[in-house]
Amino acid sequence: MTASEFDTTWKRAQQLIPGGVNSPVRSFRSVGGKPFFVDRGQGPFLFDTEGRRYIDYVLSWGALILGHAHPVVMEALNRQILLGTSYGTPTPGEVELAERLTEMVPSVDMVRLVNSGTEATMSALRLARAVTGREYVLKFSGGYHGHSDSFLVSSGSGVATLSLPDSPGVPASTASLTLVLPFNDIDLLRDLFKEKGSQISSVFVEPVLGNSGLIPPEKGYLEELRSLTSQYGSLLIFDEVMTGFRVASGGAEEKFGVKPDLVTLGKVIGGGLPVGAFGGSREIMSKVAPAGDVYQAGTLSGNPLATAAGNAQLRFLQENDPFSELEGSANQLSSGIVKILRNGGISACGSSVGSMWGIFFSDSPVTSFEEAKAANIENFKKFHKACLRKGVFFAPSAFEAGFVSTEHTEDVINETLEIVQSVVSKGW
Ligand SMILES: *Cc1c(COP(=O)(O)O)cnc(C)c1O
Repeated sequence: MTASEFDTTWKRAQQLIPGGVNSPVRSFRSVGGKPFFVDRGQGPFLFDTEGRRYIDYVLSWGALILGHAHPVVMEALNRQILLGTSYGTPTPGEVELAERLTEMVPSVDMVRLVNSGTEATMSALRLARAVTGREYVLKFSGGYHGHSDSFLVSSGSGVATLSLPDSPGVPASTASLTLVLPFNDIDLLRDLFKEKGSQISSVFVEPVLGNSGLIPPEKGYLEELRSLTSQYGSLLIFDEVMTGFRVASGGAEEKFGVKPDLVTLGKVIGGGLPVGAFGGSREIMSKVAPAGDVYQAGTLSGNPLATAAGNAQLRFLQENDPFSELEGSANQLSSGIVKILRNGGISACGSSVGSMWGIFFSDSPVTSFEEAKAANIENFKKFHKACLRKGVFFAPSAFEAGFVSTEHTEDVINETLEIVQSVVSKGW
């Protein structure tokens, strides 16, 4: 595609699809400029339709932990595709994926497969409400749990009782059942449970916030969540759609040693195809229809292509256990970028957890969404644009985590750091 063909196609996209994209952050509106159209992905790289190569740290928003077009995933897909795309009846692949998920995630004895993270969280919330007979749900500002009505609420003010919808179309009555607190604040959490604990069905938390930039939990925070929810009879739900199979092979619950009542999964478990899942103890999951009476269903749920790709990717993780290398790459990258920025006189801090990493243009470490919003967003935009121009694709928003894959070798990380160095030394 030539540059002018790109312009025509992008214009056409905007006429035909709202904002030109099928998920908002892809539009690059938060960084300015235009997105690129992808021609293909290979290993750690994306190639656009104009022939440019990018080192990719978005990796389909975390799904591709083995990089693009990994042979084991491609072979599994090739094998399945000759047998058909969907049957709407049970297949052994679903059982295999369920088995892998229960083997790898300690708190999961039983699992229901769905088609996206959004479906997983909204179904888990219904289940939690049914099991407890309570209607309130607590989440944390900056925590993303998909786009269903109940979760599109983030007061951001730290006032738990002031639950305003984030989007037109979300009924105020639905939003009023969603309580919001800032992440990592134990005192506010205790106060809220004292006041409303007996009415809270469940607490949804990204154990490591990954949709506000990367914000790890402070020491003792997840433990406190566990003990308060147990004390008040609320369910603790780890939304591990992003952290699952990313921060450790058993997810954040394994990494931090805190066991939730339910877990929601997505992204990595589909190997780049649309899959989500929610799971937990046999006792709770037995309430899901048709074993129990909590309704949940899906035409394409357990899709054979998706389970083939997911099984292949998870099998590779089980057999090769690449987590210490992934952790090394993510750490080398985030600490390397922070060092280069600081040497260039630019305020920055960063962190990594497993294969997830993030930086903020901020003097002091960021522990909540409120602090993330106070970082220097203008610097992020300039940095993003300059790196993209030189062939490094970071997520096009200051509030997204970065990822690495097993294909991000030492050479790829070093090449990235050299590019960052040249961007910083030349000024942006
Ligand atoms: C991506 C994400 C979701 C939503 O998943 P979709 O597949 O985009 O619907 C939910 N929760 C978390 C933590 C996520 O990162």
